Amino acid sequence: MPNQRLSRAPRRPIRVSFEFFPPKTPEMEASLWRSVERLAPLGPNFMSVTYGAGGTTRERTHATVKRLLTETDVPPAAHLTCVSATKDEVDAVVDSYREIGVKHIVALRGDPAGGVGTKFEAHPDGYKSTADLISGIRRRAPEIELSVSAYPETHPESPSVEADFDVLKEKVDAGANRAITQFFFDNGHYLRYRDEARKRGIHIPIVPGIVAVSNFRQTASFAQRAGASVPSWFASRFEELENDPETRQLIAAAVAAEQVLDLVDHGVYDFHFYTMNKADLVYAVCYLLGLRPTPVAVKKAAAA
Ligand code: FAD
Repeated sequence: MPNQRLSRAPRRPIRVSFEFFPPKTPEMEASLWRSVERLAPLGPNFMSVTYGAGGTTRERTHATVKRLLTETDVPPAAHLTCVSATKDEVDAVVDSYREIGVKHIVALRGDPAGGVGTKFEAHPDGYKSTADLISGIRRRAPEIELSVSAYPETHPESPSVEADFDVLKEKVDAGANRAITQFFFDNGHYLRYRDEARKRGIHIPIVPGIVAVSNFRQTASFAQRAGASVPSWFASRFEELENDPETRQLIAAAVAAEQVLDLVDHGVYDFHFYTMNKADLVYAVCYLLGLRPTPVAVKKAAAA
């Protein structure tokens, strides 16, 4: 008999978005585009491309966003950070996106120039905070859709939970349309965070960021830096699988499917996937969520 939960259709259509990072080498570029070709036909809401803090990937992010815009039917979203940059430099990036027709920016402060854990110092001629950046973008490009970050387990720099909500509220008041969360493994963190945000008058969509873990060790170390906890029950699922990538991949798909289906049960219908430029796991999880590739998008992506 099929699992009741897996066979139950969600009450509302599921909407997904996919995040990629700009490739460094021709091999990475080829691998990214294979992933885009596989995922684009699922009809995501948007596909976003990250930006190196301090503008280190400025050209590569731009080139990737441009290619998404011209070679797929999916609207791209360009990440943009304001750390270590003047307002003029950041504004020039915004203008360059508007010129090619980008309508969605993920606006971020970025990690401090000295790295995670050091004190953030705004550039003397730069935007002072994400809210300041949002106001700057809104003045130049009022039509742009703006997404921002949110931290269900609080940002590592945050002095308190309350201070974290204050920063999110400032970003919303400055004009953010949507928040995308840092990834998490315990859905309780996200659900409590969403409820607490609503109590504080934050009513924009707060979309859960989902990472499908194919390399547990790497993700655990990334989670530590990002301030995301790894529950022991979660870690135990990957125990002693270091040399067994096939089983690890199957477990990873099952764990991610369990996480998103539980969120659907809690009335969540939007998901943002951190793809790490790999399609297989994300594709499988989206398939379980009921998404199916559309032939038109396949044709367009395949022609790229
Ligand atoms: P904010 O949301 O502005 O602030 C984060 C937290 O820092 C606040 O919640 C608060 O706790 C604390 N804080 C900020 N200002 C103050 C203040 N004045 N006083 C006290 N506390 C303060 N990084 C990249 O480099 N490139 C990317 O493309 C990128 N994409 C991301 C996408 C998502 C969805 C997420 C969740 C994160 C992303 N990051 C990216 C990481 C992000 O840049 C770092 O987490 C960075 O440290 C904070 O940037 P932010 O925009 O989240 O900051």
